[in-house]
Amino acid sequence: MVVGDVTTGTDVLVIGGGPGGYVATIRAGQLDLDVTLVEMDSYGGTCLNYGCIPSKAFISATDIAHKAGDAERMGIFADPAVDMQGMVSWKDQLVTRLTKGVESLCNGAGATLIEGRAEFSGENSARIVQEGEGQGSESIEFEHAVIATGSRPIQIPNFEFDNERILSSRDALALENVPDSMVVVGGGYIGMELATVFQKLGSDVTIVEQLDDILPTYGEEVTEVVRKRAESLGVDFHFGHAAADWEDNEDDITVHTDTEDGDGGTFDCEKCLVAVGRQPVTDTLNLDAAGIETVQGRIDTDDRARTNKEHIFAVGDVAGEPMLAHKAFKEGEVAAEVIAGEPAALDYQAIPAAVFTDPEIGTVGMTEADAEEAGFEPVVGKMPLRASGRALTLNEREGFVKVVADAETEFVLGAQIVGPEASELVAELALAIELGATLEDVAATIHVHPTLSEAVHEAAKGARGQSIHY
Ligand code: FAD
Ligand code: NAD
Repeated sequence: MVVGDVTTGTDVLVIGGGPGGYVATIRAGQLDLDVTLVEMDSYGGTCLNYGCIPSKAFISATDIAHKAGDAERMGIFADPAVDMQGMVSWKDQLVTRLTKGVESLCNGAGATLIEGRAEFSGENSARIVQEGEGQGSESIEFEHAVIATGSRPIQIPNFEFDNERILSSRDALALENVPDSMVVVGGGYIGMELATVFQKLGSDVTIVEQLDDILPTYGEEVTEVVRKRAESLGVDFHFGHAAADWEDNEDDITVHTDTEDGDGGTFDCEKCLVAVGRQPVTDTLNLDAAGIETVQGRIDTDDRARTNKEHIFAVGDVAGEPMLAHKAFKEGEVAAEVIAGEPAALDYQAIPAAVFTDPEIGTVGMTEADAEEAGFEPVVGKMPLRASGRALTLNEREGFVKVVADAETEFVLGAQIVGPEASELVAELALAIELGATLEDVAATIHVHPTLSEAVHEAAKGARGQSIHY
């Protein structure tokens, strides 16, 4: 029931308080715009509450336990016990701390924060809907709007999430007990990261993936290292298996898969995590009232993050792939700056990506094949980590750093890294691309010894035929 309507005005209405929305809010506040942020669930969005941070907390914690129990070669004999509830409560504390931090940063930027769901009622107006009887309804007139409503997991037929047997990543990250066995549908980002977590916690994990490899966009050279490590941890892979349906056996469930040869597969497990991709959230918004169009479910934008309506912007997952928090950050910033009249624009040539598997993957820019396809004559330098002193002192010997550059100009075009801290190492090469640095620039930079970053240095030198340590 709507009790009473209040109408307010704002320069910028931001819808959704995840990485795209909260960055747009803070940046708009810094640029002296009058900004209102509406969030229907929790500040920080998927990333802080149900995604990046909870998953990385679990990954770090399980890694510590696993490493301690797997260090006999280093003369350490330990059998760490994991208190799952303790781990969950530590993760929850981090999440609370960070979400409160986001709220206070938005307040500090002078934004008006409203809890509720925003839906368009016209091209320059929105209603704030608070669920629940007796709550009022507020209307906001805006000059500009930034849509940052994110994404949700895709549900495949016959696998509706029930938070009991069939879990979304959000459900899996809230489990308080380690399941004896888990089938993970999808060997993508989430499937691989969480399969590693639960296998290390003691579950018997099986991945069923419809394609013939994990992490489809990364290429065999990279995926092989991660797949083999996961296999050595005990993860059981079944490629060419598409999840079809499941049956309840009371004590456990059986997941059935379809295969090309028609035989299919059956896999028993206690829990089934379905991680087959995410889709933009647009159905909370009443987009038609504002005349915003969608293309294959996402809101298309130009290089200023503008939608088909000049004064309405869309940032983050709702604007499509890649669905990464740092891409949302950048788009949120650019949208606020464009609204403030600054000459900002999006440039997607160096969006790094990382998969927090064991070992990690970090990539940026072009692979050798991409470079060839784009008309470059690429030159490549590759440093295997088994030749890195620092990697060996970390009890790690698999993986590599590969740097791709243009042979003629030596401009760095891309990098693929697999190994410990790959997510950190890739930053140097993202900066190199952003600055238009050459192989010579990276090779001439003195790197601290002994560090993993020396492998980046050595790969750049290798591409110039000047490798010293390999
Ligand atoms: P979201 O973070 O989804 O935020 C959207 C917000 O909008 C939500 O809070 C929602 O409640 C709100 N909302 C929706 N509709 C309305 C409405 N009508 N009114 C008001 N509010 C509304 N990315 C990485 O870069 N690195 C990682 O390591 C990583 N790990 C991940 C792990 C998991 C398990 C998952 C699921 C995702 C992960 N991601 C990671 C992806 C990352 O979480 C997303 O790319 C990022 O959160 C997108 O930010 P966003 O602002 O577009 O949307
Ligand atoms: P994904 O697109 O990475 O992987 C989905 C996988 O599921 C694919 O390999 C696909 O072939 C497979 N699949 C689809 N339908 C299937 C079926 N019926 N049976 C078997 N396999 C099937 O999606 P995700 O793992 O759900 O992750 C969603 C998004 O979240 C990612 O694309 C990424 O943008 C983001 N994310 C990022 C990080 C990170 O940056 N480290 C971590 C987690 C999530």
